[in-house]
Amino acid sequence: MTRALFPLFADLHGREVLVVGGGTVALRKAAALLEAGARVRLGAPALIPALSDWVAEGRIEHRPGRFVEDWLDGVWLAIAATDDAAVNRAVAEAGTARRIWVNVVDDVEASSFHVPARVERGPVQIAISSGGAAPMLARHLRESLETRYDESLGALAELLAAQRERIRARLPELGARRRFFDRLLAGPLQALLRQGRQAEAQQAFDAALGEDAARQGERGSVALVGAGPGDPGLLTLRGLRVLNEADVILHDRLVSAEVLKLARRDAELIDVGKQAACAAIELTHPTDHQSTQQRIHALMLEHARAGKRVVRLKGGDPFVFGRGGEELEALREHGIDYEVVPGVTAALACAAYAGIPLTHRDHAQSLRLVTAHLKDSAEPLDWRALALERQTLAVYMGVSGLDVLRDKLIEHGRAADTPFALIENGSRPNQRVVAGTLSNLAERAAEHQVRSPALLIIGEVAALSERLHWFGRAPLGDTGAHYAAAA
Ligand code: SAH
Repeated sequence: MTRALFPLFADLHGREVLVVGGGTVALRKAAALLEAGARVRLGAPALIPALSDWVAEGRIEHRPGRFVEDWLDGVWLAIAATDDAAVNRAVAEAGTARRIWVNVVDDVEASSFHVPARVERGPVQIAISSGGAAPMLARHLRESLETRYDESLGALAELLAAQRERIRARLPELGARRRFFDRLLAGPLQALLRQGRQAEAQQAFDAALGEDAARQGERGSVALVGAGPGDPGLLTLRGLRVLNEADVILHDRLVSAEVLKLARRDAELIDVGKQAACAAIELTHPTDHQSTQQRIHALMLEHARAGKRVVRLKGGDPFVFGRGGEELEALREHGIDYEVVPGVTAALACAAYAGIPLTHRDHAQSLRLVTAHLKDSAEPLDWRALALERQTLAVYMGVSGLDVLRDKLIEHGRAADTPFALIENGSRPNQRVVAGTLSNLAERAAEHQVRSPALLIIGEVAALSERLHWFGRAPLGDTGAHYAAAA
């Protein structure tokens, strides 16, 4: 049975606290207490060097020897942090007899107070306790809160603290204050603080306080966010936070459903997907693509102008074959605020999830990210450079034109037995890796009916997938004797 506990935040400034113990746990406790302004008295026969330093510097007071009751004279709290259960219990008993709150590290029964798991953001502290029932659960919760709230929460609290009197004077009535806070927190304030745009944050605050609610609300913005290749675990923390705040999400078809699930439940989701969601498609259907891109620009502007926080969510990274640059140009031209959150691009994700180190001391010293619709070859490519040895090619494209690619690379000097790995649906549960050598590239892809999205890796490192793969199914096909020779 667990006992109900009463949570409290103690003001220990200038107050004496006893820590019994001279090891790393005592060190950790002493550090936290010092941070809270307490005067630390540390009792132990021997101290680890870090603690001796603190004693020498006069930061803490040392009582040498084994625990005696006198150590408790004049203290408000005590923490028993020795590795001797009997000593810890003695501290607890003596302390409790004197009505001093005692925490025994890792001993719920003997403790009269617990130290919660906590998340700190400036003056804001979130404390979590499971009442000793499940410390691991509390820890897990703490981790999820750590990811949920970034440092801007602290900056927000600081700003509100500095403006407290002004808010009270302006809005003496509690209901009005509440409405003001709702309005304020729904606005761009926190995003501005996160980006370190202090002056604009202050302006946003002033505008909200000036009851200029309408104008304040109008200031929409666009975040260009890389969603990564599919596995939602590869979304960045920043990306997750921005998604949480979005009113409208314009996403490509390439963005996985699992990532979209992380959006705020009442956010408006708009699929602006281009079939291949890739710059390469423009070469085959220039007009389709152009109109899709125009529509995306129009939607971004429309929603940002309506005061919405818009997320433009793209597969992989927004600046790698993602037309992110053009979208920012459009926003800039129309004076819309924007930010960019990078994502894990397909080449990096597919390589990682297929067990292919893109560079390797023995095989490849450089990496090229390329795309082109190779069949029509509208873009002149520097085939000679692409065919160089000791480099890895990561080819973003559909799965057509592989025969042309093979011919050109071999024609320009790349060995026909260079290994390749074609990764379909990289990082997703249905990931497949098809392996082979340059000479049989097109045949292997056809034989296994590889479909988009797929990323092609060409180079000696591709053969390593056979040995280093760890995610999903083993590679289909093999890269022949080449790998054995290379290894
Ligand atoms: N901005 C994206 C690339 C867009 S171009 C990025 O940084 O990843 C689209 C191409 O990316 C696809 O044709 C495919 O070659 C590749 N791609 C994207 N996601 C992929 C995935 N999960 N698995 C394999 N290839 C992927």
